[in-house]
Amino acid sequence: MAGDERIVIVGAGVGGLRAAERLRELNFDGELVIIGDELRRPYHRPAISKHMVAGTTRPADLALKANIELDARWRLGTRATHLETDRRLVHLPGGEEMRYDGLIISTGVMPRHLIGAPRHDPRVRVLRTVEDALAVRAALAASDRPAVVIGGGLIGSEFAATMRQIGRDVTLVGHSLAPLHRFGPRVSKAVTEQHQRHRAGIAMSTLVRHWITTKHAVGLHLTTDQLLVASVVVLAIGSVPAVEWLRGSGLNIDDGILCDASLYAEGADDVVVVGDTARWPNLRFDEVPRRVEHWLNAVESGRAAAENLMAGRSRSEPYMPMPRAWSTQYGVRMQMAGIPSLGDDTVALDEGITGYVRKGQLVGICSWDRPKAMMQWTAELERRLPIPLTISVPEQEEVMPPFPMNSSIPSISALAAGLSN
Ligand SMILES: Cc1cc2nc3c(=O)[nH]c(=O)nc-3n(C[C@H](O)[C@H](O)[C@H](O)COP(=O)(O)OP(=O)(O)OC[C@H]3O[C@@H](n4cnc5c(N)ncnc54)[C@H](O)[C@@H]3O)c2cc1C
Repeated sequence: MAGDERIVIVGAGVGGLRAAERLRELNFDGELVIIGDELRRPYHRPAISKHMVAGTTRPADLALKANIELDARWRLGTRATHLETDRRLVHLPGGEEMRYDGLIISTGVMPRHLIGAPRHDPRVRVLRTVEDALAVRAALAASDRPAVVIGGGLIGSEFAATMRQIGRDVTLVGHSLAPLHRFGPRVSKAVTEQHQRHRAGIAMSTLVRHWITTKHAVGLHLTTDQLLVASVVVLAIGSVPAVEWLRGSGLNIDDGILCDASLYAEGADDVVVVGDTARWPNLRFDEVPRRVEHWLNAVESGRAAAENLMAGRSRSEPYMPMPRAWSTQYGVRMQMAGIPSLGDDTVALDEGITGYVRKGQLVGICSWDRPKAMMQWTAELERRLPIPLTISVPEQEEVMPPFPMNSSIPSISALAAGLSN
């Protein structure tokens, strides 16, 4: 990329920020434009379901700092509406067209809405932005009735924990068997016990049959016939990639933006994708393109995508991170590494540490309140799933080298015994 060129970043979250930073670190001295539909500069989104809804943090405290002078033109409160890859144009409201020489897409995901929920009622909210958290705070302040959260995933569980920590009654409602069910029985048992110890209500294996809204409260009639009366209802039932604006652009937007192994969007030589919305094959695991919705992936993919855009597609390098993530509930740290969802079985590696195994190969780990042991196990996972030494660039259509097999590595149970001694 030359000094008279323009790189446009669409999506002003952490991924976009870290990509911008990396461009400047690599001495990109052309024009940098960052377009974001929120009114704020990038901030620490994980704090939304933790400190922000607790009211212990102000929005200004969440702002992320760039580690280098960005000298960027910020276009906040501006939603990209359309992309033309052949003319290298991002369309903006009011008929404005923004030309680019290189484009970085980092538009993240949007919360899923629950069919039948009265989403126009100000007491029925999702949790993604600072504004969402402020609206939840306002609804909590307006009534001392309990809170309800629908969704037994990480955000739902975090919200319930935060409510108990500030002394509010809360019920966690979900259709799965238990909170964090997808992490397997050990993790979901640990988190369920934690909720019970802190007297959070849990209503699992259920759905909302009817919603009742009155001036004073929101009522939820569950399929188990339980009736919940709430000051605020948070919908935390997952998310969908924010790719609507790319319809008709020629990019493949089936569950995020399909990319090659180096985060270049399939079908465009000057577009790279970052963070939650990128669906790319992490060759450390296999050749299947997947998305990863975690903070550190947004940071690392932002940097990698910027490097690859600067290098050009033919000289780009595959992005092969070991995914890592965390969650905090009741002050307890839950940590993940690898891709637990790939596992077809789980194994107890150590107290509080679950391994996820695919065809005998360890592919993920999850720990509950074991930060030190988690470091050891993450190192072990990295050893078992090393970065492949010879990589074929997918563009050249070569056959991939075999992925590292663990035949010379001790079995997982032998290793678990050794490491926990
Ligand atoms: C409540 C909550 C708690 C979380 N907690 C954790 C945690 O504890 N640990 C963890 O690892 N991860 C956590 N995450 C996930 C983490 O925050 C995300 O993985 C990360 O923010 C993704 O970064 P991103 O840059 O890809 O997208 P985002 O941070 O979502 O940024 C994308 C930006 O693009 C904007 N945008 C979308 N469409 C357009 C458009 N057409 N034009 C312009 N702008 C657009 C969006 O509004 C947004 O501002 C949490 C997420 C949430 C919502």
